[in-house]
Amino acid sequence: MALRFFNTYSRDLEQFHPRDPNGRKIDIYTCGPTVYSRAHIGNFRAYIFEDLLQRHLELRGYNVHRVMNITDVDDKTIRGAREAKIPLQEFTAPFKQAFFQDIERLRIKRADDFPAATDQIYIDKMIAMISTLIARDLAYQAEDKSVYFRINRFPDYGKLAHFDLTQLQSTGRVKHDEYDKEHIGDFALWKAWDEEDGDIGWESPWGRGRPGWHIECSAMATALLGDQIDIHCGGVDNIFPHHEAEIAQSEGCTGKKFVRYWLHCAHLLVDGQKMSKSLGNFYTLADVLEKGYTGREIRYALMRVHYRAPLNFTWDGMEEARQSLGRIDDWLTRLRETAGNKIDVAGTTQRTDAANNFEETLDDDLNISAALGFLFETIRETNRAMDRGELDPASANAWLNWWERVDSVLAISDGENEIPAEVSKLAREREQARLAKDWRKSDELRNELNARGWETRDTKDGQKITRRAGA
Ligand code: AMP
Ligand code: ZN
Repeated sequence: MALRFFNTYSRDLEQFHPRDPNGRKIDIYTCGPTVYSRAHIGNFRAYIFEDLLQRHLELRGYNVHRVMNITDVDDKTIRGAREAKIPLQEFTAPFKQAFFQDIERLRIKRADDFPAATDQIYIDKMIAMISTLIARDLAYQAEDKSVYFRINRFPDYGKLAHFDLTQLQSTGRVKHDEYDKEHIGDFALWKAWDEEDGDIGWESPWGRGRPGWHIECSAMATALLGDQIDIHCGGVDNIFPHHEAEIAQSEGCTGKKFVRYWLHCAHLLVDGQKMSKSLGNFYTLADVLEKGYTGREIRYALMRVHYRAPLNFTWDGMEEARQSLGRIDDWLTRLRETAGNKIDVAGTTQRTDAANNFEETLDDDLNISAALGFLFETIRETNRAMDRGELDPASANAWLNWWERVDSVLAISDGENEIPAEVSKLAREREQARLAKDWRKSDELRNELNARGWETRDTKDGQKITRRAGA
């Protein structure tokens, strides 16, 4: 099956065609964290879905260039810095660092670029875009000195969210309490400095101020990826107003279609409500790690449900994730034992039939639940064959090779039980020495393996190798 994704813009499953004329290069922009506190695992559900998307596209041979922004100036970061009585950069730095640690724990691939909104080159780009929008009558400076996007002048406004603008228009010209906007739906591009901002602000043609959150993303996306990008992602709460505004700003400046495919993941819920900072019903990654769960267990728990279906976070769900990974670990241990250390060239062929099934289900709008269902069915069948002693080493090797492919997308292997290449090389040499009845060399190699923390057992089926307890 060809790759297809559900595009929020059309509300339809669409065949995926990259812009690249050679069909290989893909640009992805993903809205990143606002670094005013530690991200919660709801945020990580979104980032894991984006990671799954990237990894699957790479498995399919695409060359992915992904950008994830860091929002390090907005109302929340400014408020945080003011309350902590420290400079903005000093306030956001530890949260940035925690974010990078967390994504590593969750095995989320690093984006190619992590632009920060406060970087002067992006501030310059934001100012340039706002100037263009004003020149095109798509933006105006209001009496409060802030600059707003004029949504009435952008006919496509509301198309992403499938939002009927006339409902807003019926209220006519609205004077908002805080702002002097022409229309209640107009959003800030540049916020004029006020006392609460303290020493945070940049000079601009409209006076001292700071960018609005939406223009940050339009500027960083177009600065790094160009006027048009293939895929833009985020959680469903980003659709309106954030992504709607990004389209209006970017297309308002360039006159070109900004994004081909908009992909949004449903929320991580707690008791039926969105996990969020404002509701106070959230867990950080550190909270869940403290309960004794590992990064890969949390990754699995957040990944196993289709990205467009809401996922309820429960501790029972965490236990199920642990059990599922345990089954995978046991299966891999058995396969490795069956394969032995005899790497059989004939056995290294992929299990193409299995590979096709797993990969094709993911081609279908990243249908992870079906792909995992298929994985566990395969585990059941091969375990049965091993119970009957009917799986030969070559086939076991082939399944292990297949797993390598599967795990390049899932990234859930237990690194602890994996045999490093140099260790399996020593084990193979020892097997050769034993076959040649060179006992001295075999003992030397055993000592070498022990020194590296691995135990060898000689069984009638050949040598078995496991990590030494406590090593
Ligand atoms: P924020 O830091 O609030 O801008 O959120 C960063 C990303 O996490 C955005 O893509 C949000 O849509 C996403 N997000 C926030 N809360 C949740 C949640 N409970 N479940 C899934 N994604 C979320
Ligand atoms: Zn964004």
